[in-house]
Amino acid sequence: MGSQEVVCNNPNCRAQLGWMVTVEGVELLQIGGVLVRQAHGVCIKCGKEFHWSVSERMLERLIGLVKAEAKDE
Ligand SMILES: [Zn+2]
Repeated sequence: MGSQEVVCNNPNCRAQLGWMVTVEGVELLQIGGVLVRQAHGVCIKCGKEFHWSVSERMLERLIGLVKAEAKDE
């Protein structure tokens, strides 16, 4: 089970907000002791909005695949 740090979107902050973990092929967000499919809130350090959801992650991956395929041609 891999895990990847999730940090604030604010380039001047980059506070660690949680971890992305993959459970049985599904990416979930770990915040504290909880695994969630989506999270919406603000960074505790700088106040920047934070949105994360499994469906958005899947969309990102799909877009990544489309870009990768476009590169091959
Ligand atoms: Zn922040």
